[in-house]
Amino acid sequence: MSNLSELCLVRVGDVMTFTTLKKIGESILNSFDGAISRYSLAHHDAPVYSRIDATLLALLLDEQFGGHVLGITDADLICKDDFFDSIFAGKLTKSDVALVSLRRLEMPGFTSKIDRETLMQRLTKASLHEIGHNFGLDHHYSLRKGGDGQLCPMSKGNYNKYGEVSYIRAIIDGRGYRFCNECYESIKLRNID
Ligand SMILES: [Zn+2]
Ligand SMILES: [Zn+2]
Repeated sequence: MSNLSELCLVRVGDVMTFTTLKKIGESILNSFDGAISRYSLAHHDAPVYSRIDATLLALLLDEQFGGHVLGITDADLICKDDFFDSIFAGKLTKSDVALVSLRRLEMPGFTSKIDRETLMQRLTKASLHEIGHNFGLDHHYSLRKGGDGQLCPMSKGNYNKYGEVSYIRAIIDGRGYRFCNECYESIKLRNID
């Protein structure tokens, strides 16, 4: 297990500016209440693909950067068995490399295009969820509120019940930036280990 208190934020391709990446980093630091003490920014050169094998990308980032890594891509994540979570985001089993993808969060094919700010909020919330997994947190299938009255970032809900667009709106947008007490307890315990 790597040292989770240092997070490397990796931009995969030119998906956003370093200024935006930094904002996401600050937000993550705030949400983890000291369990992550600092972050660094990095860039991974990637050919422009519309789809990418999540496991392969995670392995590449693990090799290139190692440790606690969050990779941000705008390619669709193709998920296989050893990649844990969903089409929005996930993490490679037995590593601390998580990936989030802008592709589905933008809700392609949906008529009204969302603004950049909303998209970055979604991305941050999806990131908190994946990093939460790195700290050993599990899903809340019954929706649970976090410290800010919004859903705890580990809220999962039933994807099949919603369908993609409603899921993004109800669950991902419904999440806040504060975990529930139980999650914060687990994060603290994981950090002492
Ligand atoms: Zn998850
Ligand atoms: Zn929670």
